[in-house]
Amino acid sequence: MTEHTASCRCGQLRAVAKGDPTRVSVCHCLACQKRTGSAFSTQARWPAECVEVEGVSSRWTRTADSGQTTTYHFCPECGSTVYYGGGNYPELIAIPLGALDDPYIVDSPDYSVWERRKHDWLELTDPDIEHSD
Ligand SMILES: [Zn+2]
Ligand SMILES: [Zn+2]
Repeated sequence: MTEHTASCRCGQLRAVAKGDPTRVSVCHCLACQKRTGSAFSTQARWPAECVEVEGVSSRWTRTADSGQTTTYHFCPECGSTVYYGGGNYPELIAIPLGALDDPYIVDSPDYSVWERRKHDWLELTDPDIEHSD
C-alpha cells in the first residue's frame, strides 16, 4: 500500500499515512492563513487508523466560532505543524500538504472552503473542485 510520510522541518516529528487520502481541501479562512503564514492552507485527510506518528509533539487546541475544537500537533523544536485532528472531521487526521516529504500527491484538491476569505488574485482552475463560501 502507498505510504505518505510527513515530517517537520528539523525531522524529529513524523507522521506516516497509509493509502490514498480520503479528502483533500484548501481553506482560505483567516485562522488557516495565520497558522501557515501563507494565503491559504492545503491539507489531505486520512482515517485516523491509517496514520502513525513518531517523535515528540506539542499540541494546541483551537475553538472555532462554531464551538468545534481542532487540536494541532507541532514540533516543539522547529514549530512545524505536522498533523491535526478534530473539527468537522473527528474521524480523520489532517496533514498539511506542505508537510509531506512528497507533497505532489494529487492533481488538484477536491474542496475549496471559506472562499469568502479567498484572496482576489487566487484562482483555482480545476472545474471539479467543490466550492463553498
Ligand atoms: Zn521539528
Ligand atoms: Zn481554515
